[in-house]
Amino acid sequence: MEYILLAIPFFLLLIFIEAVVNHFKKSNYYRLNDAVTSLNAGIISRVDVVFRQIIPFAIYAFMYKSLAIFQIDKTPAMWVAAFVLFDFCYYWKHRYNHELNIMWASHVAHHSSEEYNLTTALRQSSTDIFGVLFYLPMAILGFDPVMLFTVFSLNLIYQFWVHTRLVPKLGWYEKIFITPSNHRVHHAMNDIYIDKNYGGVFILWDKWFGTYQEELDEEPCIYGIRKPLKSWDPLWLNFHYYVQLFKDAWHTKSWRDKLLIWIKPPKWRPDDVAEKFPLATFEKDKFEKFEIAVSPVAKWYSLVHHFILSGIVIYLMKTIDTLPTAQQLIWGGYVLFSGFSIGRVLSGSCYAASLESSRIILLAILATNLTDYYVPVIFSFTVFNLVFLAITFTARPKVQS
Ligand SMILES: [Zn+2]
Ligand SMILES: [Zn+2]
Repeated sequence: MEYILLAIPFFLLLIFIEAVVNHFKKSNYYRLNDAVTSLNAGIISRVDVVFRQIIPFAIYAFMYKSLAIFQIDKTPAMWVAAFVLFDFCYYWKHRYNHELNIMWASHVAHHSSEEYNLTTALRQSSTDIFGVLFYLPMAILGFDPVMLFTVFSLNLIYQFWVHTRLVPKLGWYEKIFITPSNHRVHHAMNDIYIDKNYGGVFILWDKWFGTYQEELDEEPCIYGIRKPLKSWDPLWLNFHYYVQLFKDAWHTKSWRDKLLIWIKPPKWRPDDVAEKFPLATFEKDKFEKFEIAVSPVAKWYSLVHHFILSGIVIYLMKTIDTLPTAQQLIWGGYVLFSGFSIGRVLSGSCYAASLESSRIILLAILATNLTDYYVPVIFSFTVFNLVFLAITFTARPKVQS
């Protein structure tokens, strides 16, 4: 966790630089509502990891203790081996993320943005339950949990910078490594690009196992998912595909299909359900990005509250072990509620003002329970938030409900 925490300032700096370049080049690669949704999904996934990491890593540690064949020392050569082997396992995990409905239901979160910029990198899933299974061969070989966790963090950090449209193809580097160009292909839903380029650091796996596709000048990438999310809610982003699967499993008359649906590829649906409840199909020429008109003030309000929330999550990540379980759960719940509520602001919902005012007051109550905060500071901060909220909801010329 430490490596990822340390990387956060660099992530934010690079996002800032990319957004500034985008602004001056008028590239139109950023939309504030999309970016805030990605960033909120990112912090929610961190809270989730804080609470959830114990289980997958306990499984890994248990397998390592019981089944490790070798005692692998932490020599430079073995660190390199662990890094490469991790990416090989990641390739297969990522491939099954796209090929099995039950895994796509989790991974779809990362692909749900219709933009492609550095904030997309942080749009991470909060429900990656099966991922650890793909790394168990490393436990059996004898890579200890510290090595696994370190190479996992480095792999994740590497993947950040490739989520940009500002970097062109990179010559020889393209042939070996995952680059912005070949990861753009991975996020595109054009026929030729779909389900390609699964590697995390190395593109070689895709070349060897038949899933490589180069980005083509004549085929600009269209980003997003074919069953579009149409939401700025970071919770719905995590659960919408599970809901779709449950609905389809419920509706189909075939008991076989009720079970099969979980391990079928995402493009598959039971025949009777597809006929009775058809979903819109993706047509490249008719594709339009999801948008809801709200005032610019509401978008900036959401961004400011994202940063306040980020501060809370970073604080939580640093102090989680010292807080009593009840407080951990309350803060965790507060972060989830905040992501939902900010999503309502971006959607111009008529409930947003009441949700936000209760969220701001709740924060004041929770913060006064932490001994290292001063009541006057919390009071001033709460007044500032409430005034900002009032301005946001009185200056909205064209909000849709
Ligand atoms: Zn993917
Ligand atoms: Zn990605």
